[in-house]
Amino acid sequence: MTAILETDIPLEKMPLERYVPPAKPSLVGMSRTALAEALGAVGVAPGQQKMRVQQLWHWIYVRGAQDFDQMSSVSKDLRAVLDTHYTLARPEVVAEQISVDGTRKWLLRLPGEVAGERAHEVECVYIPESDRGTLCVSSQVGCTLNCSFCHTGTQRLVRNLTPEEIVGQVMVARDRLGDFIGMARAQGPGLPTEGERCVSNIVMMGMGEPLYNFEAVRDALGVVQDGDGLAISRRRITLSTSGVVPMIERAGAEIGVMLAISLHAVRNDLRDKLVPLNRKYPIEELLAACRNYPGLSNARRITFEYVMLKGVNDSLADAKALVRLLSGIPAKINLIPFNPWPGSQYECSDWEQIEKFSEIVFNAGYASPVRTPRGRDILAACGQLKSETEKLTARERMALRAMAMTD
Ligand code: SAH
Ligand code: SF4
Repeated sequence: MTAILETDIPLEKMPLERYVPPAKPSLVGMSRTALAEALGAVGVAPGQQKMRVQQLWHWIYVRGAQDFDQMSSVSKDLRAVLDTHYTLARPEVVAEQISVDGTRKWLLRLPGEVAGERAHEVECVYIPESDRGTLCVSSQVGCTLNCSFCHTGTQRLVRNLTPEEIVGQVMVARDRLGDFIGMARAQGPGLPTEGERCVSNIVMMGMGEPLYNFEAVRDALGVVQDGDGLAISRRRITLSTSGVVPMIERAGAEIGVMLAISLHAVRNDLRDKLVPLNRKYPIEELLAACRNYPGLSNARRITFEYVMLKGVNDSLADAKALVRLLSGIPAKINLIPFNPWPGSQYECSDWEQIEKFSEIVFNAGYASPVRTPRGRDILAACGQLKSETEKLTARERMALRAMAMTD
């Protein structure tokens, strides 16, 4: 019998399910244009739409309104019309977990294709730190790509998330944290005092490949960035991609957020196995797209993510090659300890090896891969992983990935 070669793994899976919008859509997460259209559809005159959008955005994104009746600056009649046709619903929270360090995870239920059946679930993770609070957001349920070290990659894709569902993750986090004006702040470790924002940073590092759901991610991040919307600056939003080369320039031009590239290998033969999309867009093309990323500068560096896989990509020769490969690109390097999952074929590199690797990267002038004393977070995460390996849930893996990312 012929052994199955790694390269026989299909590069992409087919999406399985379509999205069927609910009969009564939510206005939360709609772009200004979509919201103006939604207002037009219920009889708001074109000349009034812009002003109404502005009013509704204030209630939705600054005040966190969950009920049209709260919108005291909107006429009673219009509130009643809106209530007949639309909702202010967010994704349904089916579970919330709070860790001792303050990390919070929400399991969210989204409607499936068949109403009332086969609901889909995504997770959203909040990590409070002394100077920021980072929310790790998903762009798809599952992922069509098959990166061999990623658990999400082993799931069949269910579907792309809509802009409303992507923004909805931020709304849920802010609801639960009491992060809207006039709301009581949630209690728990690590949360900032009232008056300061809980969610200050966003990383598109949850489930899915954001550049395979380009329009929805663009529109959602438009609402997140908008000064009258969720008002999180583009410098505080990071989009992570496995390397969808043709979309990278568009991402810079149309979304304009910070870019992270899941590099993970310095040679095409290895990257072909780790990130099969590399067979379509090899390292040279990926790095050329990075060099051309609109707005790239020393102040706006690209983060290169590199998952530490024992005996696979963690040699010191690899570290030196990594530094050489990125020379000339304003870059940060983020070493991520591999988070094992049941059935995964890799192990996390030993801590000593990560430290030596990190030393080479650091001595070459790259910012420390993690924020607090160099490497300490990696050790913490990696040590934790060693003892907890099989116990880690998908949520915990996501939290650890996002923690490694918050720089
Ligand atoms: N699809 C996008 C974003 C989501 S994955 C991407 O691939 O970039 C976010 C990051 O977590 C990526 O760098 C990804 O390679 C990394 N990752 C995936 N599985 C991992 C695991 N088991 N351990 C550590 N990092 C992992
Ligand atoms: Fe998809 Fe990213 Fe996982 Fe690859 S690493 S399978 S692109 S989520």
